[in-house]
Amino acid sequence: MTRVLVTGGAGFIGSHYVRTLLGPGGPGDITVTALDALTYAGNPANLAPVDGHPALEFVHGDICDVELVDALMAGHDQVVHFAAESHVDRSIRDASGFVRTNVVGTQNLLDAALRHEVGPFLYVSTDEVYGSIESGSWTEDSPLRPNSPYAASKAAGDMLALAQHRTHGLDVRVTRCSNNYGPYQFPEKLIPLFVTRLLDGGEAPLYGDGGNVRDWLHVTDHVRAVELVRTRGRAGEAYNIGGGTPLPNRDLVDLIVRACDADWGQVRYVEDRRGHDRRYCVDHTRITGELGYRPTVDLATGLAGTVAWYRANRSWWEPLTAAAALL
Ligand code: NAD
Repeated sequence: MTRVLVTGGAGFIGSHYVRTLLGPGGPGDITVTALDALTYAGNPANLAPVDGHPALEFVHGDICDVELVDALMAGHDQVVHFAAESHVDRSIRDASGFVRTNVVGTQNLLDAALRHEVGPFLYVSTDEVYGSIESGSWTEDSPLRPNSPYAASKAAGDMLALAQHRTHGLDVRVTRCSNNYGPYQFPEKLIPLFVTRLLDGGEAPLYGDGGNVRDWLHVTDHVRAVELVRTRGRAGEAYNIGGGTPLPNRDLVDLIVRACDADWGQVRYVEDRRGHDRRYCVDHTRITGELGYRPTVDLATGLAGTVAWYRANRSWWEPLTAAAALL
């Protein structure tokens, strides 16, 4: 039986991962501890489908808590580390929570993993650590040149993780994925922000000229790739994960407007985000060649399913948008 500690297990991607591990087709010989501080982005409802599962334990706690993390690590074999402050706009307003969780929290987990010889330790990084690229794509050997405070804090965690491998031989594996979308994503991120606003008949804000390019990947494909790296990846390696669907934001918004039966009149161009990276694109031939990864959900199908989920699950997101409006 493998005992896996999943940090950020009540967030968007972490909860997909936990539900996948414990759902039909999961590995079976596994127990999962989901450690989550339940910040504004963490939501116990994300784990409702696996609530009461005999192989799941939920721990409400902070990855920066030295004693808690040390005690938990002693009872686990592996770590998949999703917990993070994850919204770029918030990091531009105040980076302190990003440094605390994404850097100090990651260091705390790594140090405890080293003390208790826990590995693999999979650090879920992001394609944003590479910074913007005008054309072509970043490979895993490209330099990290993060631009936003969010990306800088993720790059610090990424480098700390790989440093623990090089210095101490800890079995660390890193994934750097492009933009995710799908059900259960907090409605501050682009796709659920647009979907929830448009379904409510309201306006949604599009940054700058709408020409920023992102590569969209359905969360189930990301989670499958993380599982490939946890089970078959190499120690000390980073793996890019891409979707193969690079798209300017205005084209993505056009797809969302259509999928929501909405109107372009509901889209409002707003002043660009400060330091807004123009284009991200990762080369994912390493994970494709070594581990047989292929994205399986095309954007049109994934987007239609996502919009259908938000239409059918207003009780999940309405309390979140109501609370956000109070901020
Ligand atoms: P999210 O914001 O939805 O979830 C983050 C989770 O971490 C929440 O449940 C939150 O409560 C928890 N958390 C925050 N601080 C914590 C702390 N100090 N201790 C314990 N738990 C804490 O984020 P997400 O979109 O699910 O992203 C998960 C990971 O994937 C992040 O590391 C992010 O950088 C990375 N990633 C995200 C994307 C994307 O498009 N969303 C793409 C690539 C990589």
